[in-house]
Amino acid sequence: MVTKKQCTKCKKRKNADVIEFPPHPKSSDGLGSWCRSCSNINSALWRQAFRARTGKSYEVALREAKRAKWAEIALGAAEEEKGRPW
Ligand SMILES: [Zn+2]
Repeated sequence: MVTKKQCTKCKKRKNADVIEFPPHPKSSDGLGSWCRSCSNINSALWRQAFRARTGKSYEVALREAKRAKWAEIALGAAEEEKGRPW
């Protein structure tokens, strides 16, 4: 299950992960209260923070997350395929 978090700036609910929210080590869930698009103004800063926190650049993390998501989708589709009566 994916936890959602509401951005305090745009009020949109997004996935509570480092892809949607910039990491914020001092907050309770480790994520900032503004979503990434609202925080874009600080992107250079938060990229630095992201790197410090995760040990990899945002681009790399994003690529990995996308790959993981696709793998999940592919797995889900395979499972569905197996469940089909034909
Ligand atoms: Zn926002």
